[in-house]
Amino acid sequence: MSEAPVGTAVTGSDARAFDPKAVVDAVRRAAGTPNGVLGLHEPVFAGNEVAYLEECIKSTFVSSVGPFVDRFERMLEEVTGARRAVAVVNGTAALHACFRLAGVEPGDEVMSPALTFIATTNAIAYCGAVPHFVDSSLVTLGMDAHALATRLEAIAERTSRGAINRETGRRIAAISPMHTFGHPVELDEIAAIAREWGIALVEDAAESLGSTYKGHAVGSQARLAALSFNGNKIVTTGGGGAILTNDEELGRRAKHLTTTAKLPHKWAFVHDEIGFNYRLPNLNAALGCAQLEQLDGFLASKRRLAAAYERVFANVPGVRFSREPAGTTSNYWLNAILLDEAYAQRRDDVLTALNEAGFGARPAWTLMHRLPMFAQSPRGDLATAESIERRLINLPSSASIRARDE
Ligand SMILES: *Cc1c(COP(=O)(O)O)cnc(C)c1O
Repeated sequence: MSEAPVGTAVTGSDARAFDPKAVVDAVRRAAGTPNGVLGLHEPVFAGNEVAYLEECIKSTFVSSVGPFVDRFERMLEEVTGARRAVAVVNGTAALHACFRLAGVEPGDEVMSPALTFIATTNAIAYCGAVPHFVDSSLVTLGMDAHALATRLEAIAERTSRGAINRETGRRIAAISPMHTFGHPVELDEIAAIAREWGIALVEDAAESLGSTYKGHAVGSQARLAALSFNGNKIVTTGGGGAILTNDEELGRRAKHLTTTAKLPHKWAFVHDEIGFNYRLPNLNAALGCAQLEQLDGFLASKRRLAAAYERVFANVPGVRFSREPAGTTSNYWLNAILLDEAYAQRRDDVLTALNEAGFGARPAWTLMHRLPMFAQSPRGDLATAESIERRLINLPSSASIRARDE
């Protein structure tokens, strides 16, 4: 595996020699020739979806209370191994609630990757807190544990109020790694840093349902983790999310906070704090139950496709397939390739060639510190995240794609 040093952009004849068609041919060998456009991630409804939705409508329980909500939560607990799962209206709401439950207050800072979907960062801002960006790892594509430790050593100080950023005077209230495209982060190392500094850990596991870290499902060991069931995720409820926690009391708090903080009573409306109406409707939960029944099949199909991509890209010079980190299994939510740094300037040519051939390939997200709302946020060195941003391409990854590789 050859990697140009991070941060070096090579120009000239080397880059011109690179052929985007070789990438298109490889994708075709792994995923077949698309009939129309092969989207990045399309949902598969091959189980009890229609039956459960019909059951919902016939029962009149279509809204925020109903048996499918409870059933979906119990199924999530079984699948993830988390003690408590609380279903909510989307993944962003799950993250917002997680940060609140972790004690993130206005004026705090949260250590977060710059390479993530906007939801992680927005949820921090919804708490009135400020994201503090740390670099990502070339191996996991998620928060780099070493970069996190280095950044904290450089700017933070332990006080009776907790960890304080010496440069801004703000408390560092949480660390929020995200398991990028399904690849688990270096969780033990990041959790150890969080413990050492007395900072809460909130996992953005929106993309990683079904992934494992050292034999445990991602989220199963979490004090607080957030899942998403948006239409493009491995399992969808239309829109939806969940909070996972291993702490019974936090689980009760999570349910309370996301269901308007209403005290249970037959008729009286008494609410004991400012809660949120983040409840997942029964209709969406019904869809989720049918989807979770198929999770093992989705995972198996996606692993076959990832293996096919890995095989075909082993023979494409200048391109590296991003495989699951050692000691983990990725759900391979979105397959990703990285062009060598020498060919980074050809990324858009590759994207154009893939899309013209009917493959709905996409680049990585624009890094958070480049967006106007977060340009002033504190940050460490982001050289690796910037390198990944320049040269990463996501490939069609739906569970419905039948892997082939001749
Ligand atoms: C999908 C996603 C979320 C949650 O998104 P919703 O659309 O609100 O469900 C959060 N974080 C990441 C990294 C995601 O990919």
